[in-house]
Amino acid sequence: MKLSSLTLHEAREGLRARQFSSVELARAFLTRIHELNGALNAFITVNDEEALAQARTADERIANGEDTPVLGAPIALKDVLSTRGLRTTAGSRILENYVPAWDATSVARLRAAGAVFLGKTNLDEFAMGSSTENSGFQVTHNPWDRTRVPGGSSGGSAAAVAADLCCAALGTDTGGSVRQPASLCGVTGLKNTYGRVSRYGLIAYGSSLDSVGVLAKDARDAAIMLGVIGGGDPLDSTSVDAPAPDYAAGLDGNVRGLRIGVPREYFIPGTQTEVADAVRAGIEQLRALGAVVQEISLPSTGVALPVYYMIATAEASANLARFDGVRYGLRVQGADLIDTYRRTRGAGFGDEVKRRIMLGTYALSAGYYDAYYIRAQKVRTLIKQEFERAFADVDVIATPVSPTTAFKIGEKADDPIQMYLADIFTLTCNLAGICGISVPCGFDAAGLPIGLQLLGKAFDENVILRAADAYQRHTNWHTRKPMLSLTYQGC
Ligand code: GLN
Repeated sequence: MKLSSLTLHEAREGLRARQFSSVELARAFLTRIHELNGALNAFITVNDEEALAQARTADERIANGEDTPVLGAPIALKDVLSTRGLRTTAGSRILENYVPAWDATSVARLRAAGAVFLGKTNLDEFAMGSSTENSGFQVTHNPWDRTRVPGGSSGGSAAAVAADLCCAALGTDTGGSVRQPASLCGVTGLKNTYGRVSRYGLIAYGSSLDSVGVLAKDARDAAIMLGVIGGGDPLDSTSVDAPAPDYAAGLDGNVRGLRIGVPREYFIPGTQTEVADAVRAGIEQLRALGAVVQEISLPSTGVALPVYYMIATAEASANLARFDGVRYGLRVQGADLIDTYRRTRGAGFGDEVKRRIMLGTYALSAGYYDAYYIRAQKVRTLIKQEFERAFADVDVIATPVSPTTAFKIGEKADDPIQMYLADIFTLTCNLAGICGISVPCGFDAAGLPIGLQLLGKAFDENVILRAADAYQRHTNWHTRKPMLSLTYQGC
């Protein structure tokens, strides 16, 4: 078997059994990155030398008998997570040359556990987008079809996992940015409960919605990664003060009696028929394994999109105020301080980021605050309560992840509303602060992957991971690989 196609848990077995070293593993991935990144643009920064140094240290630790779930494992990091000494751009020209002096907590925990950081992956600028086309640097291509987007905003991480450019990757999810690219690239994507993983060092977009998540080759790997990065953190007061359970240990393959709710509002006209069919077939598979399936209703689903864009842009407008040319990154000197702010932000931010700062500033301005922001917060509470009521009767809610498979690069780039609709099935999870996972459940006629979303109660990651893992024990959608060499012949 090729080293680069190993899952995280297979890599760990191989490392422990001394079948290969961490240095050999890192070399295999770095070689592949250098072969394919030109065609995919999944990475913004490749961390060649440091990765090999980390791999050498991991090999020494392994030789000394140490063992952690990610010791020596090659991991990619979305470039919105701060990495000590390694450029962190957030996909924005305004941070093009920014090198943080600290690690995000999720990164620090992986580092302490001996992971090898292959590099930083591409994203929509400040994680604002659904296609990774809003990056200030490059457009990432979907490994299944290079003319299509990988989804977003964690499109670089999703493409990297799908193309075997890393064992697993970290992403972030504010309204769907782990699950939607996972779906469009045919990988597994876990969005954790708000508070489960520290947000410290994650460059903030919408602080009440942001979460750090995992893109992986299967649910077992997602469970392993969450076990390492999860748990309370004194540096993030919104993280919940409890250690992460051993999620991987809870994967027993058993979904007998698991109550699955299927909300009728998530099967709506406009959804690609093949997507709805594959998702329904996935739910049937879980029923065949012993789950109990029932239809449910989440009536406020239809208003979630405007509520999300009101809250996310309001929070973004406040969070992005810090990029002023004084403290971080780019500075374009003006005649005076205000002129410097204007020039710096005018030159450093892309169009979508500017659009959102304007929308958010408007929503928060005197006179409109009550009409828009406060109202949106009230409806958010209704959405949250609806989920709580639904979860009184069911353990898991099953839906599509994205209404369509991967769309063409450029297809929605000039139509923000169409782009915002790409997250219609994912953003309720963030508004409610619950957890969700995207698992591959089929392909459309064009050979593009389809994802099934399993939503769980707050802090029920163990439940959705167990269901996802059970599903993957009986299906092989997640093991299919894009035909990379054929796709790129002559490119
Ligand atoms: N596409 C959504 C947005 O642009 C979600 C992005 C995300 O989850 N970071 O806001």
